[in-house]
Amino acid sequence: MTRNRTAPRPAGTTRILVTGGAGFIGSHYVRTLLGPDGPGDVAVTVLDALTYAGNPANLAALEQHPAFRFVHGDICDAALVDGLVAEHDEVVHFAAESHVDRSIASAAQFVRSNVVGTQTLLDAALRSGLRTFVHISTDEVYGSIDEGYPPETAPLRPSSPYAASKSAADLLVLAYHRTHGLDVRLTRCANNYGPYHHVEKLIPLFVTRLLQGRRVPLYGDGLNVRNWLHVDDHVRAVELVRTKGAPGEIYNVGGGTSLTNKELTERLLAATGTGWDRVEYVPDRKGHDRRYALDDGKIRDELGYEPRVGFASGLAATVEWYRENRWWWEG
Ligand code: NAD
Repeated sequence: MTRNRTAPRPAGTTRILVTGGAGFIGSHYVRTLLGPDGPGDVAVTVLDALTYAGNPANLAALEQHPAFRFVHGDICDAALVDGLVAEHDEVVHFAAESHVDRSIASAAQFVRSNVVGTQTLLDAALRSGLRTFVHISTDEVYGSIDEGYPPETAPLRPSSPYAASKSAADLLVLAYHRTHGLDVRLTRCANNYGPYHHVEKLIPLFVTRLLQGRRVPLYGDGLNVRNWLHVDDHVRAVELVRTKGAPGEIYNVGGGTSLTNKELTERLLAATGTGWDRVEYVPDRKGHDRRYALDDGKIRDELGYEPRVGFASGLAATVEWYRENRWWWEG
């Protein structure tokens, strides 16, 4: 991994600082941006602390790309962040502690990275006169939804310390727009899935364990409902928001397929040729949200978003990726 080179500054390009770009979604975003179907007029710097969730292998294909550079650092490091933000036109902010179970065990790092880190970036954006700040949030800020589909105006009712820290960050981002006029745009997306997803998360955890002949842990009664969004579709939505979104606006991003965890498990067992004898019911997660849902009519109507990856084909390709890339997850 190339580190801390001088910023690439080809003339006429938009210089984008991507935080958390060595993680699951951020790396997919950067690979897409600098890939054959990318806009072609961007230079990208990834700022990532390489926590347990960040993996340089996710960006290895870009190491020699002339419009890419990697900076190893923390979004809470104000001096580093000030210097970097000043060299860029836009920030797309993915960096966060992202695993709910870890936030239940210990919340301090979630407040530090997700709240203080976001505030550090926002202050740097103000000082430098940054053009646009895209903040990546989550449907978990709406809390557990008994019925219906919350729009962007729904109240924030986060349950877990993770969701609370993301909600706090969202409110800070919106405050910098209202108070200072900073051009911020927020996305709140459903559960993502796809390749390069850390094995602590449900789909990769189950797939890799099943491929290894091990058992998988299903929380509670398995009837918690999640909406599933392929990471390709999410990245397309983020690009729409970055290039066509409006300042101060929030955009929900859904994937189209909602399943109980039991239904999802059924599909993962089928995809790996295994059966229910591999499933172990375990005590429910503390404060486990029953159902996430969102209304993504706004991004569809205003920006022309539509998920393109069908869940059956997206899941099959994801399972295939884990089958073929054991080096990535078996270490
Ligand atoms: P991830 O855990 O895979 O990656 C997070 C990345 O951020 C890692 O590379 C990590 O090293 C980096 N990071 C963490 N703390 C940092 C710090 N203090 N300074 C610099 N870098 C730091 O997460 P992900 O699944 O790719 O999620 C990306 C974003 O999308 C997060 O903001 C998350 O809240 C949000 N989100 C994710 C999902 C999902 O299903 N995965 C759903 C909704 C929203």
